[in-house]
Amino acid sequence: MGIVQGKRALVVGVANDKSLAWAIAQALHAEGAEIALSYQGEMLEKRVRPLAEQIGADLLGELDVVDDHAIARAFDMLNRKWGGLDILVHAVAFAEREDLRDRFLNVSRQNFQRTMEISAFSLVALARAAESLMETRGGGSILTLSYLGAVRAIPNYNVMGVAKAALEACVRYLSLDLGSKNIRVNALSAGPARTLSSSAISGFHTMQHDVENRSPLRRAMKTSEVGTMATALLSDLSSGVTGQTIYVDVGYNIVGF
Ligand code: NAD
Repeated sequence: MGIVQGKRALVVGVANDKSLAWAIAQALHAEGAEIALSYQGEMLEKRVRPLAEQIGADLLGELDVVDDHAIARAFDMLNRKWGGLDILVHAVAFAEREDLRDRFLNVSRQNFQRTMEISAFSLVALARAAESLMETRGGGSILTLSYLGAVRAIPNYNVMGVAKAALEACVRYLSLDLGSKNIRVNALSAGPARTLSSSAISGFHTMQHDVENRSPLRRAMKTSEVGTMATALLSDLSSGVTGQTIYVDVGYNIVGF
């Protein structure tokens, strides 16, 4: 009997087999959850479809988080399919490559807004859509993914750090709004892992090396460790935990010098 046996989970943010969302989907599946996956656009379907097949997940189709109609359609499909939802994983972020290098100061108004909308507001939009489906099930657990750049100024992370700070604040406010319905909201702050998104960050390998050399565990974080911790946070084992940012970064965030 797995720790999320029989729970129904929507995982948003799988792009390929390197995605942190994929590590989470696999771990949820291993612990007994039924999974639905969405993908951002047609281009990603060919990568996500075989992954969905591997874990017997349902493919919900395209879900672009800037499109309110697409969000409504996806949750309507889930409602018809399952009549409720226990788990929502939000693993979505975007910044223009040009903003993930050099000076934060140079970010344009338009790029700032777009990064905030896709990387922070989208959690609010998805949580709002999930609320009634989770209420039907007597509660639920929502998890998003953050990074240390939310609370420290990390070179080149720039506008994404600002969006992650907003995302972590959204987690606290959402947890306050949804707690009375037994819906928990948490963030998992992961260490650096090479994925489609992170490869856009200038000097990313330096971040990884520093973690390997200076973290208490003196090694890189494994993406499977994001999967297992996420599953614990999404399960009833963490029923007393909400509004938190939990670090899965081989301890790097506690090191000063
Ligand atoms: P990834 O590229 O595999 O995943 C990012 C996902 O965001 C992709 O599936 C992409 O399709 C999706 N996305 C972007 N814009 C979207 C939109 N408009 N609508 C719907 N989906 C959209 O990379 P990842 O590293 O697995 O990123 C997942 C999350 O983990 C992100 O929030 C990222 O900031 C966070 N994170 C990553 C790292 C790391 O080092 N890789 C560390 C900490 C946190």
